Amino acid sequence: MVTEKSAIFIIFGGSGDLAHRKLYPSLFRLYKSGFLKDHFAVIGTARRPWSDDYFRETVITSLKDYFDDEEEVMKEFSKHFFYQSHDVNDSEHYIALKNLAAKLDDQFKAGHNRVYYMAIAPRFFGTVAEHINSEGLKTADGYNRLVIEKPFGRDLDSACELNGNISKAFPEDDIYRIDHYLGKKMVQDIPVIRAQNDKFEEALNNKYVSNIQVTLAESIGVEDRGGYYETAGVLRDMVQNHIMQIIGAIASIDPKAKDAKVIHKNKCDLFGSLKDLTPEQVDTNFVRGQYDTDNLDDEKAYRQEDNVAEDSNIETFTAGKIEFENDRWSGVPFYIRSGKRMPDKSSRIDIVFNDNVTDLGIKANTVVTLLIERTNDHSILINGIDYKESAQDFIKFPEEKDFVGAREAYESLIIDILSGNRVNFTLWDELRSTWTYIDAIRERWDSQTPDFPNYVSGTMGPDAAEMLLERNGDSWVWDD
Ligand code: NAD
Repeated sequence: MVTEKSAIFIIFGGSGDLAHRKLYPSLFRLYKSGFLKDHFAVIGTARRPWSDDYFRETVITSLKDYFDDEEEVMKEFSKHFFYQSHDVNDSEHYIALKNLAAKLDDQFKAGHNRVYYMAIAPRFFGTVAEHINSEGLKTADGYNRLVIEKPFGRDLDSACELNGNISKAFPEDDIYRIDHYLGKKMVQDIPVIRAQNDKFEEALNNKYVSNIQVTLAESIGVEDRGGYYETAGVLRDMVQNHIMQIIGAIASIDPKAKDAKVIHKNKCDLFGSLKDLTPEQVDTNFVRGQYDTDNLDDEKAYRQEDNVAEDSNIETFTAGKIEFENDRWSGVPFYIRSGKRMPDKSSRIDIVFNDNVTDLGIKANTVVTLLIERTNDHSILINGIDYKESAQDFIKFPEEKDFVGAREAYESLIIDILSGNRVNFTLWDELRSTWTYIDAIRERWDSQTPDFPNYVSGTMGPDAAEMLLERNGDSWVWDD
């Protein structure tokens, strides 16, 4: 059932790429489906001096990239959009924002609710949050929620500093840190699948699981994001956040938990049990790579990309073995892998069971694959067979009919923000544990010079990624 929500959105960075490519199309979908109707307004802010009309035109232009023939609805929708030019350091501008938000709240009867969305560079997050507080933008009789995009720091120290700045202005319960993988239907379905399939859940532990593999592979290179990528690399860009959160969905206890606090505590406990890595273990358990041209020289090597240093040592591929020290998972390797310029786009979890599962009436060495990307409606494979054709009575797919029309990640996350549902956001304690773990790898890597480039574009990464598993007698389920 659709319940209309009311709020004033203040989008810092309202002229930027994220706002136009992700936020406005998602807000439009919510408008079309009735979650947003009469009682909302969007204030876009950025440095440029735009009029409301011009801002609305930019919004409509970006919507046309995603929707056809709906110009009248777009126009109606755009009447809820207003623009306020704004410099993050100028206190006067916050007063103007406050007054505009109050006026629009009266006009649209938005219930004094505010969503402050940071679609700007992270270096501004602290300044903006502090000004929202000090200039009195927060309302007393509605909610005030702060939404933050990744990257959330580049290591534990910078994440602590960033968090220190925003938490002076907003309590943790009002901070919504977006990891868009947590908005994906299939990631949200992982606990549901576990909760609804007792036998599967019973088998998800070190007695029955041989290893778990999480792959987030892309076939494209860095495209026009070389400048950003040079400050990140795949370890920070994909592993610290998305891969860890996917592991959280498959490996934390009690998938039947409904309360956000319990769910987060379970995830925090899991990340708190990550097995520490010595520098030598980083060498044996983690592989890094950087793409070269392809064999035909059709594709650029990473070092030839725009805004990338000719001698860059940033990794575009990583594979690793993550281990936990807890009753449930000790001894089970979680192999992770993410890279650019791999043969295909593929986001998947492969759970490889051992031969003890025969005790549960399941065929020895069964592999269950959960596909995370919604490329079609085949979401679960067992032993490589589409589940729907498989006779095995192991797991069933939840709400299958809903899956095809599932919401986009941002759309689903915005509904959560408007509903005050914090289940699908990242808490500070989770970040602290995952950054601590990632920092140990990064520090070791930064102390050594890699031999890059070391994999050909369009391949499965460096050979060392295969050897990592072979050493344990395992192999990647997804292989070219
Ligand atoms: P962008 O460069 O396209 O937009 C940045 C916005 O910030 C612009 O509207 C700009 O006018 C505004 N801005 C810059 N300096 C300002 C100042 N001094 N005062 C007021 N406004 C100022 O960037 P983007 O790609 O939209 O990214 C925004 C944030 O979202 C970043 O933190 C980025 O890491 C994150 N993010 C972006 C994407 C994406 O797909 N673009 C994906 C994930 C996370």
